[in-house]
Amino acid sequence: MQHQLPKGTFDILPYGTDEAWQLSDLWQYVEEAIRKISSRYGYREIRTPIYELTGLFDRGVGETSDIVTKEMFTFEDKGGRSITLRPEGTSSVMRAFIENRLANLGAVHKLFYIGPMFRYERPQSGRYRQHHQFGIEAIGNAGPEQDAEIIDLLYQFYKELGLKNLKVHVNSVGDLESRASFKAALLDYLRPHFAELSEDSKARFEKNPLRILDSKDPKDKELVKGAPSILNYLTPSAKSHFEQLLSYLDQIQIPYKVDDRIVRGLDYYNKTVFEVLTGDLGAQNTIGAGGRFDGLISTFGGPDLPAVGCATGLERVLQVMMAQKISIPKSLRPLVYFIPMGDEARKTCFSLVTQCRHQHIAAEIELSAKKVPSAIQNAIRAEATYCIVLGSDELEKGAIQLKNLHTREQSELKLDHLLTHLKELSHA
Ligand code: ATP
Ligand code: MG
Repeated sequence: MQHQLPKGTFDILPYGTDEAWQLSDLWQYVEEAIRKISSRYGYREIRTPIYELTGLFDRGVGETSDIVTKEMFTFEDKGGRSITLRPEGTSSVMRAFIENRLANLGAVHKLFYIGPMFRYERPQSGRYRQHHQFGIEAIGNAGPEQDAEIIDLLYQFYKELGLKNLKVHVNSVGDLESRASFKAALLDYLRPHFAELSEDSKARFEKNPLRILDSKDPKDKELVKGAPSILNYLTPSAKSHFEQLLSYLDQIQIPYKVDDRIVRGLDYYNKTVFEVLTGDLGAQNTIGAGGRFDGLISTFGGPDLPAVGCATGLERVLQVMMAQKISIPKSLRPLVYFIPMGDEARKTCFSLVTQCRHQHIAAEIELSAKKVPSAIQNAIRAEATYCIVLGSDELEKGAIQLKNLHTREQSELKLDHLLTHLKELSHA
């Protein structure tokens, strides 16, 4: 019986996929870029389990968010505990930060993570049930420089991968006081239109009206266009934080647009919120997003520390790279491909290929093809640069033909000199 992938998931393969973004070379390239840029900006990796006790996300992400109301993969384990596959990274990182008492080890903590996230969504291009995120979190700095650093890192990451035509949209959702006065104004605006709201938004009207601004329902979207702007309700300190952030973004030349409709889908944000948008992904046009969440760590029972972070979906990053025809350097392929003819040659080739590998030369040996032409086809498929056919003649003469598979040129070499020669070629 043949088995199938669960809906909304995909395999990442070394070859054999029609979707270029599902090639593992590409994933490795992007993951390497993540590790490089994160360490350059002073962020260290944190890895947490892919599942947590469900209560973490109810509290952190927020009980009225789309993630918690509709999208979580929640199940009971054999011990009767409610478990959830993590839908996002921040809650787990903060749980780990508190539980491992990292706050005792310094004033500022800069962390990054890469890994799968799980959301029960309607699968479509750019929207999967298992997707991957690269996220960064900076804990301990309340100043706007820290928000600017986070936005800069994310933007620079995209830039270094070669992505073009990105838009950074920023907003401030203020502090608690700003939100309380804005909420009142928003409710006044929405009240006469209550009947026109989507069912989801009706439910949010009492519990969390700000989230109505984030609705994906087309009618809601139209309606909120006329809603008041949160930027007119910021307290002086929230306003000054936002203005300073914008001036830092000007200073470091990040092209941004102030967009007062962004509230973000998660409950824990305050002050800065932002999204990075692309025109190359159709409906799924947000490739990364984040914001400040000064209250989250203390809500989780940890110290009262400010924090700001963001996350980007790697599928969407790779899809934009493909849409923009960005090519990446090839990963290592065999420098040489040995093709033995006969048992004696097989032993010699096995010894040679092993010596190559021990000396850090990428090398492969043909162990299955019966005929030379099909072995050479295999060498070409493996994208080897050279191949060597070795039979009893070559063993007798102690000399081989080194064939360049790109140029088709051949050169004769003494078998004794082969390794030294290959070593030189591998450095060239
Ligand atoms: P969207 O508005 O597209 O649903 P979101 O607000 O739910 O996004 P976040 O929770 O901020 O997204 O997640 C960070 C990033 O992860 C998104 O900007 C996006 O690139 C990616 N992402 C989120 N959900 C998915 C998904 N189901 N499939 C693929 N990527 C996703
Ligand atoms: Mg979503």
